[in-house]
Amino acid sequence: MSPFENQKHDSSSGALMADLVAANRILLRQGVLDAFGHVSVRSAPGASTFLLSRNLAPGSVTRSDLLLHDLDGAVLDDDRPPYLERFIHSEIYRRRPHVMSVVHSHSPAVIPFSVVEAPFRPVIHMAGFLDVERTPVFEISDFAGDSSDLLVTNRQLGSHLADVLGEGRVALMRGHGSIVVGSSLPEAVYRAVYTEVNARALFEASILGVPRLLSIGEAESADQSVGGQARRAWDVWRAQVSEGGTE
Ligand code: MN
Repeated sequence: MSPFENQKHDSSSGALMADLVAANRILLRQGVLDAFGHVSVRSAPGASTFLLSRNLAPGSVTRSDLLLHDLDGAVLDDDRPPYLERFIHSEIYRRRPHVMSVVHSHSPAVIPFSVVEAPFRPVIHMAGFLDVERTPVFEISDFAGDSSDLLVTNRQLGSHLADVLGEGRVALMRGHGSIVVGSSLPEAVYRAVYTEVNARALFEASILGVPRLLSIGEAESADQSVGGQARRAWDVWRAQVSEGGTE
């Protein structure tokens, strides 16, 4: 049953749900999500609810698995188990009213940058959205002690993580993964994919020599021109995951 059943815009909500299912499959196909990680979307601009799958591998998610959550991370009108780390999403949506979508992943090329001093910085034009100085790293032991499971499983930890993200687009989580936000679902998906691509490029360049990074001006210009076309990537990826009639 649709969580939007009693709301006015059933058709647009249905489209949003279909897009969120597609986003799960796109991010799986692009190697950002695997059996773990999740992507969410705010119900509407300014809404205090968001859609996120129940506790399920991203490749298995269908429309009927999507649960409506509030900004406390509580699930509305559904008893099925939610993701343990839903507080990542709820606390970012609480803190950042203009964020419309959040991706939490363990995308593999990014994780090494969370455990070394070397900063994660943009080195390719498709990743101008990254912080030129350094992507912040959430150090969970600062808040959960030195014996935690590294998971963000309550509001307090989610709030600390949102603090570390600040007004940025990406934050790393030490020994765990990353979070990426966007002002739309396609933008968050695009950024999550190219965060992983940038991590591979930066690592490979570092083997060859000392990488030349994007300047602040280049990152801003590239983000405007390339990032403005995130929709093109979305349309291609969306078509790829729709071909099998999986929705
Ligand atoms: Mn995780």
